[in-house]
Amino acid sequence: MTARILVVDDIPANVKLLEVRLLAEYFEVLTASNGADALEICETGKIDVVLLDIMMPGMDGFEVCRRLKLDPATAHIPVVMVTALDQVADRIRGLEAGADDFLTKPVNDLQLMTRVKSLVRLKTLTDELRLRASTTRNIGIEEMLARREPEADLPKILLVDEKPASVEHLGSMLGPHFQIDAVADPHKGFFDAAEGDYDCVVVATGFREFDPLRLCSQLRSLDRTRFLPIVLIANEGEEDRILRGLELGINDYLIRPVEQQELTARLKTQARRKRYNDQLRASVTETMEMAVIDGLTGLHNRRYLDSHLQTLFDRSTTRRRPLSVMMTDIDHFKAVNDKWGHDGGDRVLREFAARLRKNVRGIDLACRYGGEEFVVVMPDTPAPIAEKVAERIRAEIASAPFVVADGTAIEITVSVGVSSLKPYADSMDALMKRADVALYEAKSGGRNRVVAKAA
Ligand code: GH3
Ligand code: MG
Ligand code: MG
Repeated sequence: MTARILVVDDIPANVKLLEVRLLAEYFEVLTASNGADALEICETGKIDVVLLDIMMPGMDGFEVCRRLKLDPATAHIPVVMVTALDQVADRIRGLEAGADDFLTKPVNDLQLMTRVKSLVRLKTLTDELRLRASTTRNIGIEEMLARREPEADLPKILLVDEKPASVEHLGSMLGPHFQIDAVADPHKGFFDAAEGDYDCVVVATGFREFDPLRLCSQLRSLDRTRFLPIVLIANEGEEDRILRGLELGINDYLIRPVEQQELTARLKTQARRKRYNDQLRASVTETMEMAVIDGLTGLHNRRYLDSHLQTLFDRSTTRRRPLSVMMTDIDHFKAVNDKWGHDGGDRVLREFAARLRKNVRGIDLACRYGGEEFVVVMPDTPAPIAEKVAERIRAEIASAPFVVADGTAIEITVSVGVSSLKPYADSMDALMKRADVALYEAKSGGRNRVVAKAA
C-alpha cells in the first residue's frame, strides 16, 4: 500500500521516530513542525493520512484538526491524534475537533501500521467516491460524503462475545452511537453475520472452547461477509494472535481495557468504510449495467453483443458445438410511429422485447441491435431447432395485438433471418452476414416470415 502520510510534531525526534517507521513500510512521508505548515501541506499536498501531535506551540493539534475538518478541501483527510497515554479528556476534545482516530505515545508499531493502513483504505474509498461524484454528479454519493456522522440510522454492530459482563460493558459504551446485537455462540455469530446487514463485527477473545480467529477466517472465506469489517478485542499479551488475525484479514483491534472514545472512533471508521464500499460496489454495478443494457427494453445492447459474440463463437468452434443466430426486424414499424407517435412505438418495442425474452432460454443472448431490430444468439442450438424457435417467436408476435395507446391495440408482425455455424471455415462476421441476408429475404418475400440460412 502506498500513501502519503503527514507527520506533525514540534519535537524533531518524535517526527523522526514516526517517519523512519513509516518509511520502512514504504509509505511516503511529509513532515511539519507546526500547525500552520501542516494546514498548508494538507491543502496542496494530496495527503492521505495526518498524524497529529496535540501539544504544539502556537496552534495546537485540536485547532489544526478543527480547521482541517472545517475546510471542504481537507475535510475528508483522516486525522489521527497522537495523545499521551491516559489523557481521556484529550481524546474527547480530539473527537469534538473531528479526529478520526487516536494513537497513544509511545506509539506501538503494530498499532501505528494497523491504524494508518485502515485509514488509508478508507481514504482511498472516499477519493474514489468523490471522483465518481464529480464525474457522474451522483447526488446519493455526495450526500453520503457530506454526512460524516450518519444520525438517522446508526451503524449496526454484531458483537460476538461469550462473557456476559463484557457484553454488558461494551454494550453500554457503544449504546449511544450504534445498534448492537450480541451473540455468545460463535457458530451462531457466523450465521448472524452472514444473514444480517451489519456494518461491522466485533469479536472478543476469551472463549473457553473456541478460537476466535477461526470465526474471522470463516467470515473472510464466505462471499457474503468477505467485505464485512472485523474488529478484534484482545487482551494484553495476545499480540501473536492479533498478528495472525491481521494476516487473516481482520481490519482493526483493541486491547483491553477498552477505552470508550477509542472504541467508538474505530468502529465508526470501519462502519463508514463498509458503507462507502457498498456504495462504490453498487455504483460500479449500476455503471456496468447501464453500459451494456438497453434502457428502453432492459435487454442487452449492441455494445454488449459486440463484446460477447466473439466469445460465444470461439467457445462453440473449439468445442465443436452448434451455434445459431436470429435477427429480427419489426415490419412496417415506421407506420406505427407515424400513426401512434414515438410513445406508441416505444410501447410496442417494450412488449416485443418481453415476448422475445419469454420465448428464448436463459443461456440465449437476446439484445436490442438497434431501432426495431433485435438479435438472439443461441449457443448449442443447431439450425432446425433455431428455425423452430424463430417460427415460435414470429407466431407469438402475430397472434396477439400490441397496445399502442390506452384502449388501442394493433397487429404487429416481424420478419426473421436465421443462420447457423458451419462446421468448418466459418467466421463470426460471416455468420451475422448470413442472418442479415436471410432477414432481407424474409422482407422481400412478403414479411411476417422466417428465412433460415442453414449451414
Ligand atoms: P420494414 O418492414 O421494411 O422493416 O419497415 P420499417 O418501417 O420497420 O423499416 P425502417 O427500418 O425504415 O423503420 C424503422 C423505424 O423504427 C424508423 C425509426 O423511426 C423507428 N425507430 C427506431 N428506433 C426507435 C425507438 O427507439 N423508438 C421508436 N418509437 N421508434 C424507433
Ligand atoms: Mg429496420
Ligand atoms: Mg422494420
